[in-house]
Amino acid sequence: MPDDMTMKAGERTPVPATPQTGETAPRPAVTTPRGPHTLIAENSFTSAPRRDPEIVRRILEDPRMHDHRDGFQSCIQCGICTSGCPAARFTEYSPRETARRALEGDESLLTDDAIWYCFSCYTCQSRCPRGNSVAVINQIVRSLQVEIGSGRRHVEMFAQWCAAFYDKGMGGNPHLMFPGVSEAWGEQWLESMDRLLEVREKLGLGDLYPPRNVVAEVQTIMEETGFKERLAAVRGDGPSAHGGDSILASR
Ligand code: SF4
Ligand code: SF4
Repeated sequence: MPDDMTMKAGERTPVPATPQTGETAPRPAVTTPRGPHTLIAENSFTSAPRRDPEIVRRILEDPRMHDHRDGFQSCIQCGICTSGCPAARFTEYSPRETARRALEGDESLLTDDAIWYCFSCYTCQSRCPRGNSVAVINQIVRSLQVEIGSGRRHVEMFAQWCAAFYDKGMGGNPHLMFPGVSEAWGEQWLESMDRLLEVREKLGLGDLYPPRNVVAEVQTIMEETGFKERLAAVRGDGPSAHGGDSILASR
């Protein structure tokens, strides 16, 4: 049937042919609308997730969850997190869905690219009536994705910056690692970066980087927390961030 908006004056709406006795009227094609709600329905009803209790355990045991463990386990699926989430507004990502799937240990989280749309603004955490933090859950699930390899492509562009952080106790100058970004910032910025040490010396600001004892402390933290191993895995220098005892590595 033509669209009413495109019909010209004087045109009549075509009448569909009446099926003859014994004929079956053709069924109209059913089109399923796609969107966040379709995704929720698919996740909730049409495909039971494979569940891995280790995912729940790793989230609960992570130190970053120390203020949010009760909230994580008592999420009421109110959706307040999603209603204020800037990432959910423009993508298929849903913090409420993430909270539910994480609590269920849904394995599909380990390969879900949508969690990388979160940019850690913490709006969800500040608004959650139960004290849950999807922002932190995302950080942990991302770590698990990096650990098993599915998320490495999301972070490998930062590997050089992280290596500089380990070597010097702070990240290096962006133009040494992200040439595209420095081009966007312009020639004047590039020139100031090239003269950075000279300008600092003139202003009496001292060394750009922390002293060796501070660097050693930073390195200890990065080693104890598994950061160095994870970095090696991302750069292809190591087999896995957590070795063979990880349930995620054994998948
Ligand atoms: S706001 Fe909190 S309680 Fe509500 S759905 Fe999100 S995580 Fe769950
Ligand atoms: S921290 Fe992430 S999940 Fe939470 S509101 Fe911000 S973008 Fe959304």
